[in-house]
Amino acid sequence: VMETSPLELPADRIQRIAAKLKCHPTDEKVALHLDEEDVLRHFREYFYIPKMKDLPPIDLSLVNKDDDAIYFLGHSLGLQPKMVKTYLEEELDKWAKMGAYGHDVGKRPWIIGDESIVDLMKDIVGASEKEIALMNALTVNLHLLLLSFFKPTPKRYKILIEAKAFSSDHYAIESQLQLHGLDVEKSMRMIKPREGEEILRMEDILEVIEKEGDSIAVILFSGLHFYTGQLFNIPAITKAGQAKGCFVGFDLAHAVGNVELHLHDWGVDFACWCSYKYLNSGAGGIAGAFVHEKHAYTIKPALVGWFGHELRTRFKMDNKLQLIPGVNGFRISNPPILLICSLHASLEIFKQATIKALRRKSILLTGYLEYMIRLYSTTKNAETKGPTVTIITPSRIEERGCQLTLAFSRSKKNVFEELHKRGVVCDKREPHGIRVAPVPLYNSFHDVYKFVNLLTSILDSEEIKN
Ligand SMILES: *Cc1c(COP(=O)(O)O)cnc(C)c1O
Repeated sequence: VMETSPLELPADRIQRIAAKLKCHPTDEKVALHLDEEDVLRHFREYFYIPKMKDLPPIDLSLVNKDDDAIYFLGHSLGLQPKMVKTYLEEELDKWAKMGAYGHDVGKRPWIIGDESIVDLMKDIVGASEKEIALMNALTVNLHLLLLSFFKPTPKRYKILIEAKAFSSDHYAIESQLQLHGLDVEKSMRMIKPREGEEILRMEDILEVIEKEGDSIAVILFSGLHFYTGQLFNIPAITKAGQAKGCFVGFDLAHAVGNVELHLHDWGVDFACWCSYKYLNSGAGGIAGAFVHEKHAYTIKPALVGWFGHELRTRFKMDNKLQLIPGVNGFRISNPPILLICSLHASLEIFKQATIKALRRKSILLTGYLEYMIRLYSTTKNAETKGPTVTIITPSRIEERGCQLTLAFSRSKKNVFEELHKRGVVCDKREPHGIRVAPVPLYNSFHDVYKFVNLLTSILDSEEIKN
């Protein structure tokens, strides 16, 4: 079901364009041509792109201060849609002018602020409105879902997760196990990559599920690994886990807004995600949760508040709970309207661009980045002893999103700092990687071109120094 691109492979496309333009594939003309052909390029105008002069670590003697920075950090914090301010002002005005009447009127009546934009999330995660709730923050939602889906018995008591999961997920699981009085050592089953490898092999994941599935209560994987950039085969893991009687859930922090998701059709039991990474809702933005429709009447929230009560009778305040079936019954409090505004602005852009078209561009954009880096490293390896670049992220399109994690044969620290000084916004992650994410909504092929040239010139000057 996952889209295995019917498109021309990125490398073929790049070589075809270079042949047509009669230049080398690494020529700037190729990048400019790719941008010209890009039907989504105008979406960059919908965002504020940080300028060189406003970024703290930049050395202004090395850059043009009025140029756009090369922002490759959308995997950590997405850029601000220009409409955010307008939408915030609409609600602030309403509050100023009519106070509590704002609960019931306007584009986003506060009482149903979350419900008024949930429709825009449907295509992004591949679920119906009833299967999605916008609430809380990611780790909070993970806890709330685990409280309902993780019901250990003496025979079935483990939670299966990938090794080196994001720390918050790791701690959430540890504490959920402890809440049930379980021994973390015995109950937290982590799948490690093979010795000397960074990427988990699907066959190894399936083997653990096959062998130990009877003792696993919940499988909780990330959809796309935050460090390696590996996109897991969500439908295959779901199917294998459910065949063994496990509940299968996903933390989609790095997958949502990045790759196509079909949570309903894949039969995923539950999922949660944040909205400040690829969904551009701003730091601490409102998070999402999914519970499959098949569980609407059987899986109930463990902790309940008034917003889990049916809207029709919610304000009768008769203290007789009429629980909303499905994930909307998991909502505890009234929705934070100011957080709804920023997410609204971003989701409207997604609706116009469509996640399908964004993914198509993303495959080519990241494919171009990979192509340029590979070309450089193969020439390097052949010619010189300079530092080389390796790409940790899988090269198969179906196994990654837009992010590439790069490792260097030496002096990562130096490379990272030199990039920062020149206006490349990316991040470094231990043990030895830097993460770069060209985001199809606001990054261009020319951004990738400039990045690769900066990177290679830094690596080449390293070589001279050594
Ligand atoms: C970003 C991220 C988080 C962050 O959790 P918050 O509750 O939003 O602070 C958690 N888990 C994963 C996998 C992430 O990528």
